[in-house]
Amino acid sequence: MSSTIRVRFAPSPTGPLHIGGVRTALYNYLFARKMGGKFILRIEDTDQTRFVPGAEQYILDSLTWLGISPDEGVGAGGPHEPYRQSERKDLYMVYADQLIQEGKAYYAFDTSEELDAIRTLFESKGSAFQYNALTRVKLRNSLAMPPAAVQELLDSNVPYVIRLKVPAKGEVRFQDSVRDWVHVHTSSIDDKVLMKSDGMPTYHLANVVDDHIMEITHVIRGEEWLPSAPLHILLYQAFGWTAPQFAHLPLLLKPEGNGKLSKRDADLGGFPVFPMEWKDSQTGVISKGFKQEGYLPEATLNFLAFLGWNPGTEQELFSLAELVEAFSLERINKSGAKFDVNKAKWFNEQYLQLQAPEELAKHYLGNLPAEQGLAFVSLFLDRITFPQELKSLVDQFIEQPATYDEAVIQNKWNAEAEKGLRLIEQALPSVLNWQVDEIKHTIHTVLEGAGIKMGKVMQILRVALSGNGAGPDLMISMQLWGKTQVLERLTAALHVFPKNS
Ligand code: GLU
Repeated sequence: MSSTIRVRFAPSPTGPLHIGGVRTALYNYLFARKMGGKFILRIEDTDQTRFVPGAEQYILDSLTWLGISPDEGVGAGGPHEPYRQSERKDLYMVYADQLIQEGKAYYAFDTSEELDAIRTLFESKGSAFQYNALTRVKLRNSLAMPPAAVQELLDSNVPYVIRLKVPAKGEVRFQDSVRDWVHVHTSSIDDKVLMKSDGMPTYHLANVVDDHIMEITHVIRGEEWLPSAPLHILLYQAFGWTAPQFAHLPLLLKPEGNGKLSKRDADLGGFPVFPMEWKDSQTGVISKGFKQEGYLPEATLNFLAFLGWNPGTEQELFSLAELVEAFSLERINKSGAKFDVNKAKWFNEQYLQLQAPEELAKHYLGNLPAEQGLAFVSLFLDRITFPQELKSLVDQFIEQPATYDEAVIQNKWNAEAEKGLRLIEQALPSVLNWQVDEIKHTIHTVLEGAGIKMGKVMQILRVALSGNGAGPDLMISMQLWGKTQVLERLTAALHVFPKNS
């Protein structure tokens, strides 16, 4: 076996990839890059009943959008093709057979009706049924039945499953990179099904066999798989293989911190929990995606990186390359990470500032002349969270105000302010070069001459011109509106504002 670090992201295509899954992919990617290893994408589609068309493509598209595509696997190819488990079906049977031959697994012929009946019986006695060392001797399987009877059932094609023969006594222990030592007694592990009656492997068998064959060195996955890890260790032992190093990532919690983040939280909170928009083909329901909401891929990655990991310094903004540099499994937190959408927005605002203004203008204000688009980008950039807000801000900016902020009028509109506005209205036509400096100079001069303080007039001037009490730089705004428009707006406001006695 080579010593190269090899990690895998192994989603099941059962629907849109949850943002927690994207975080798992990201941590795998970061670790692979950091260690000079390989990041593999394996599609775990052995559960035919949960297969959702389009889900695999969605996973690939999401990773592409974020720039964390796999080095090997579905969509990339590689030495262990195929990387889709449904296409590796025959392989798993060989390994299950091996365990049967070695007495480490067995055939079980119990029908689901029989098992249901036993479950009910146990429940009626106040206990829970487990298919394990205590019960298996009394059930319909190749451990409890004479070999000839077993052979007869097999020959007559009676459906069966293959179960792992979990040792009656013993302890399973492994050291997780995040959770440290995990100890479990084998009596708490039931004889899990490895092969189903439809000839398909279960997740457990396929996952372990593939991780071994694909030479996976580190299994980095969500905490929901921690309970399965002892069983996986038992499987590695049964095969005589070295288990990979495990790292179970903390859960993503609701914004309030109590319980696992769900799609319902997202719907209630109006924020996405999927990387990209997803349309349910059955119901037609569309779920929001980070991409369509206007999150930049860099911001999404940076936000996700911090959900369960921190660099141990004050630095928060990390490019993908910097994340690779700083990342380590040791700095992953044990406790759940609260999903805070305001933090996601904050990251987006930071990354928006770093975008090339020309690109933003071209993409979002492409209907305007380039120079004007650029001017609007610089006017509004620090006032937006998502780039598509530019368009509506500009539309609103261009529109003459239909209403005026009443509260500001109440507070700031008086004889002195009125005098100031009228003086400005008279002075502005003389501005020849309609640029910020000259506009500002003219307003200053005329107010100063009349002994009126700027502070008494500026906010009401803003209301007169834009309708709003707050907004982007007023002088730049005036330049962008143009002289005619500014004078029109001022005259209109002076007609509408109440008379001062
Ligand atoms: N197929 C599992 C999932 O959907 C993979 C779990 C693992 O990484 O072992 O999450």
